[in-house]
Formats: sequence, C-alpha cells, structure tokens
Amino acid sequence: MARYDVLIVGGGLSGLSVAHFVDKLLPGRSLLVVEKAPRLGGAVQTFRQAGFQGEWGPHGFLDNTAESQELLRDTGLYNEAQAAPLGDFYRYLCHRGRLVRLPQSLASALTTPLISGWGKLRVLADLWRRPIPEAMTIGDWVRHRFGPELLPLVDAAVTGSFAGDYTRLCLDSVMPGVRKLELATGSVIRGLIRKKREAAKGQGLGRLPSMLNFPDGMERLITVLAQGREVAQNTLVQGLEPGGGGDWRVRTDQGTIEAGRVVLAAPVNGGLQLLSGLRPPPVSCLPVSRIVNVVMGLSGRAKVPYGFGYLAPEREGRFTLGAMFTSHMFPDRAPSGQVLIEALVGGRRHPERLALDDEELISAVYEDLRQLIELPEPPLFSRVLRPEHGIPQLEMDHPRLLAWRAEMERHFPGLLICGFGWDGIGMNDMIRSAKNTVLAMAAATGRQDEAKVKAVYF
Ligand SMILES: Cc1cc2nc3c(=O)[nH]c(=O)nc-3n(C[C@H](O)[C@H](O)[C@H](O)COP(=O)(O)OP(=O)(O)OC[C@H]3O[C@@H](n4cnc5c(N)ncnc54)[C@H](O)[C@@H]3O)c2cc1C
Repeated sequence: MARYDVLIVGGGLSGLSVAHFVDKLLPGRSLLVVEKAPRLGGAVQTFRQAGFQGEWGPHGFLDNTAESQELLRDTGLYNEAQAAPLGDFYRYLCHRGRLVRLPQSLASALTTPLISGWGKLRVLADLWRRPIPEAMTIGDWVRHRFGPELLPLVDAAVTGSFAGDYTRLCLDSVMPGVRKLELATGSVIRGLIRKKREAAKGQGLGRLPSMLNFPDGMERLITVLAQGREVAQNTLVQGLEPGGGGDWRVRTDQGTIEAGRVVLAAPVNGGLQLLSGLRPPPVSCLPVSRIVNVVMGLSGRAKVPYGFGYLAPEREGRFTLGAMFTSHMFPDRAPSGQVLIEALVGGRRHPERLALDDEELISAVYEDLRQLIELPEPPLFSRVLRPEHGIPQLEMDHPRLLAWRAEMERHFPGLLICGFGWDGIGMNDMIRSAKNTVLAMAAATGRQDEAKVKAVYF
C-alpha cells in the first residue's frame, strides 16, 4: 500500500496552497494531492470563447492579505499579475433604478446620495452604541449599530461576495475581524480609525487595494501551484480512518493509501460527509448559494460606465444580482472595440432563476441591463455559464461547526481540516487558512487563526 507523509484531499486552491506551504515550511515531506475530478482547480476555472475571456468562478482577489502576497512572491506570480486598483475604478450600486457610484473616500461618503442626512448621522451613532456580544445575523447587527439606511449597501456587499442573504448570514463567521474591532474598541468607526493609524505607521498597504487576476485568467494560479506536484486525479476519497502506528488510512475508489497527516481541503459539506464516518457533526451541511454567469460581449457603442461593475440590493427588485465590467478591469478580455460584461443571477434568494433555460436568462439579463445602461444593440456574443460549485453560506450554524472542527482536530492527531466554507469563502481566506493549517501541522498544537478585518472583493 502506498504511503505518504502528507495526503491532501482536494486539488482546488485550498489543497494546492496547503501543498505549497508544506513544501516551504516542512520541506522533505512526501506529499500527494488527491482530486476526484479530471481537472485541478475546483471552483477556479477560466472561460475563453470567440476572443472573450471570463471566469466560471472567482474573477479576482484583493492584494491586501499577507499570506496571498507571500504565495504570489514565492511562485513568481506577482510579476505576472494584472492589478485593477480600487482607487482608480468606480463601483456602482443600483439605487432607485439607476447606477450610483459607491463612495471610495470619507469625503464622498459624506456627500453620497445613497444615504440621507439623517441616515449619515445615524451611522455615527456607532460611536456610542454598546456592542451586543451574542451571536446575530449581519442584518440585525447593521440595524443596531448603523441604522436601517446602511442595509442596502451591506446587502450589495454580501451579494457581491456570498451571493447571500444578510438576514441569515452570521456576523461572527462572515466578518470576524470587524466584530473583533467592535468588541475591542466599542465601535467599528473607532476601530477602523485605529487600524488606519497603524497602516499609516507602515503596518498596512497604505492605499486602497487592487483586484488581481492574470493575463491567462485565474487558472494560471492553479497551473503554477500544480507544477511538478504529485497528484492523483480522477480519484474520489470515500472515507478515512486512523490506522496503526499513528498513520491514517484513506480509502479511495482506486484503493487505500496510508498517510502520516491527512489534510481535508474539500468544500465544507464534502468534508462533513467524509468526517461523519469518524464522528457525527452537529449540522449535516451548510446551505449553498448557486449562481449562473451570463457572459455578454457588447459592441463598443454600449455606454458601459467606467468601473468594476455594479451590485443590486434585493429591495431594488432586479432580475440580475449585479454585473462585472470585466474588460474595464482587465485589458484583453474582449476583442478590440468590444466590451465584456459578466452578469450574475440566482444566489441564496433566487435559486428558482437557475431553472430558466439559456435563452430566457440571456433575454432577462439583457432587458434588466438595458434599463440601467445605454445598450444600443443586443449582445454580439452571449453564453450562460452554470458553475457546478456553489458558495457555502456561513449562516448561524457555522460557529458550531468551527467548534466541532477544533474538537475533531484535537481528538484525531494528524487530521487537519480547511477548505471552502470553513474559514471564509474568498480566495484570500483559502490561502490564509492553508498557511494556518500547515503552521498547525508544524506546531502540532492546533490552529491559531487570527481574525482579520475581512476585505470585500467586489
Ligand atoms: C461562482 C463563484 C464565484 C466566486 N468568485 C470569487 C471571487 O470573485 N473572488 C474570490 O476571492 N473568491 C471567489 N469565489 C470563491 C473561490 O472560488 C473559493 O474561495 C476557492 O476556489 C475555494 O477553493 P477550495 O480549494 O477550498 O474549494 P474548491 O475550489 O471547491 O476545490 C475543492 C476540490 O476538492 C475536490 N474534492 C471534493 N471532495 C473530494 C473527495 N471526496 N475526493 C477527492 N477530491 C474531492 C473537488 O473536486 C475540488 O476540486 C467564488 C466561488 C464561486 C463558486
């Protein structure tokens, strides 16, 4: 029977990042990545057709996280990355049926038409409202701290990251860093000012972050991380159990493999399924939000506003959750003189829209966009992408799962658990969690994840 020092279940960004940090921090270990699919990358997959280049999954990640910066430096990918600086691009909110720029600075926040004068004063009440330590949803928390007028903006942020519902997502799971600031300083505004001062002292980027991707698309990251690595593709892990002498026995559809350490880097629900054979989890699965991406190529006569794209809060009653103006963010994503837009539909609140056929989706998205953007003619190119991967929703059950994971890792030495939905959902979260997993492996003392202020990546 084959034996490895480290076996990683899952060849997505999490698993491959764990492999990278094992090589770096624990050199000399024999390591195998086991992936059930015929391709690596999981949710990361680039789309190319007719001169357009989009993404099935992630479209970008911010360059403000130490672990991702480290990974990019280690792999040489910093030199290749394309950066779209948030400071140079506008982001828009659909507000009362039109696109309004989101404020990017304190001065523009004071004058934005998105919030009334009274609403702005109410936001400042954060300075003296006492924190409620109990677990709560993001919606309840925002209403308490900042007042109801901020809810549509928060709705948009949560839509842009989770395709989720702020009335169900758990504050402590989704925004652990902001929550920590609130509890430490009694106010989010005060906490953010403190952080800004630290940044001015050289402990931060000192500028608005940039969104990163690569000229060949996000898949490039996967290709580079997988280079020269031993990977068993088309191999489904079906179960794991502690074997003799401290080793683990990992049962796959291709046979059993022994390993000193097993890192479960599958999405949270797949992980729970595998772990339930060892001990039943307190919750069998987290809800998952699915979206479709309607890719549209438009002629240069389309008056797509300059910027990253827009998001539509639920109260606007739009068909489309929002759209990315991809060829504004990254050059060469569309043939010369044309524009690429990627519009997202579905999400936690509208799974029924995923059942529409391609024609219906394209025409509903086009009609929706036409009311917001001057589009003199129908798209020259359109394609509906239906990613098989959904986004795990860190709702109110999530903290119980984290406590259970800590117990499992304590009880079963050599078992480590990370991946989509455990320590967040964004690419930066996955890379940070991968590094923490390897540090925990090195120290064998359990994970010591530090809650950071989360970055919104759209
Ligand atoms: C539609 C969509 C849009 C997104 N947009 C963004 C974005 O713009 N920015 C951002 O930062 N993040 C975004 N994300 C999140 C980002 O894609 C994830 O953070 C990241 O890809 C998760 O990587 P992972 O390796 O943890 O999980 P996955 O990508 O799901 O990979 C897990 C791998 O494990 C394999 N696997 C599972 N079970 C087994 C088993 N039993 N045996 C063997 N192999 C197994 C799977 O086949 C898969 O390849 C998006 C996600 C989606 C779905």
